[in-house]
Amino acid sequence: MKGEESVRTPMRIAVIGSGYVGTTLAAGFADMNHDVTAVDIDEAIVKTLNAGESPIHEPGLGGIIARTAGESLTATTDYTAITDAQLVFIAVQTPTTADGSINTDALRAATIEAVDTLVAGSERPDGHVIVIKSTVTPPKLAALREDVESRTSGSDIDIELASNPEFLREGSAVADFSAPDKIVFGIDSKRAGDWLEQAFEPIIATKSPDVIRTDPETASMIKYANNAFLAAKISVINDIGNICKEFGIDAYVVAEAIGTDHRISPEFLRSGVGFGGSCFPKDVRALIAEAAQAGYHAPLLDATVELNEEQPTRMVSLLEKHLNPAGARVAVLGLAFKPGTDDIRNSRSIPLIEALKKRGAQVVAYDPVATPPMRERFPEIEYANSAAGALDGADAALVMTAWDEFGALDTEFDTMTRPIVVDGRRIIERRDGITYEGLTW
Ligand code: NAD
Repeated sequence: MKGEESVRTPMRIAVIGSGYVGTTLAAGFADMNHDVTAVDIDEAIVKTLNAGESPIHEPGLGGIIARTAGESLTATTDYTAITDAQLVFIAVQTPTTADGSINTDALRAATIEAVDTLVAGSERPDGHVIVIKSTVTPPKLAALREDVESRTSGSDIDIELASNPEFLREGSAVADFSAPDKIVFGIDSKRAGDWLEQAFEPIIATKSPDVIRTDPETASMIKYANNAFLAAKISVINDIGNICKEFGIDAYVVAEAIGTDHRISPEFLRSGVGFGGSCFPKDVRALIAEAAQAGYHAPLLDATVELNEEQPTRMVSLLEKHLNPAGARVAVLGLAFKPGTDDIRNSRSIPLIEALKKRGAQVVAYDPVATPPMRERFPEIEYANSAAGALDGADAALVMTAWDEFGALDTEFDTMTRPIVVDGRRIIERRDGITYEGLTW
């Protein structure tokens, strides 16, 4: 935000949870010149922030923290630092459970601790709005709101629980926070809406996002609907892509044409090996599971997940058209769930590696940044230090992440024992001397 307008009326803001979302939010607000306290139970994260460094890898975030730490941004493990905050954002994790629904233990613990701290020591006569940033399903948000109401009912401190879901993407978190398409305020009072608008005022003034005011549960449903729709769009184009492959048609030519229809739009039409990460799989599963608990079976979302699970298996089937993986040396290029991140959560490379191992392949994997977490997940496979190293002597290569450097590979394929390349991301050029299979083209 630096270089753009600072907020006209700085506010006291606390952000609880300093992961991907919380750190981006705290740094973003601090950069607008709000007075921000980041609270995390992890002392190492607090120390890192106070030293002016980013605890996570996100383009642009380090610079913002370097210039705001010790000024408009401070970090602490101590909840009593929030007692003078007008807005208290909660951005802790809401992980998935075995049945697909979300676990709100951390969210509940952080929210209750914030509420109890404010009830015990509020320094604001005008009260506080606690804003849930974490992704939480409408039924679980409603339950949390009931908890909060029961804890505040005897108190004369005015505490409202609101919801302000986050739509940023890892890898472009700062840019997404600074220029969102929309900002959704789930509120019960005009006051809460006005305070939130004041907090986001420079973004609203300069980037003109749509500002939507609704009730908290609807706000939370908007977040789930957004991700469910995008995930379904990916699975639809993958379904179409699989059909194209069977028909001998290039799905990318088809996608480019249908993307000109403004009702479809060109975004999210790159068919391939599917979606991963910490959000789409978790959010779609949560919606399916909690809709089922409410009595509705969501067939399209079920199919969205099922198809996504199938795509890595299709990579292996294409490989098997050319070679029996048993005993073969198979290079897996790309381990991160998408380029630009070291995050491997739900990476499509995980089921792929499992499938290859099951068939007795000798897997050699490479990723420019995501090798360390994958080494923890699969310590038994081999890891190369470069794409060239992975290809050297390999019988086949499966391309799983669209890192730019894979697009630049050329003579490196000549060192393969059998140059069979199955591309799951349309990043490798077809060329003489390699047997090339595109997943959907
Ligand atoms: P994260 O796991 O990176 O960070 C959570 C942080 O909260 C950790 O640093 C943890 O130490 C801290 N924490 C846990 N309990 C705490 C407590 N009681 N008090 C203080 N701090 C506590 O999580 P994230 O990726 O930032 O996601 C946070 C929420 O935002 C989740 O609900 C997620 O679904 C949602 N979300 C994430 C993204 C994304 O791209 N990562 C995008 C949109 C929404």
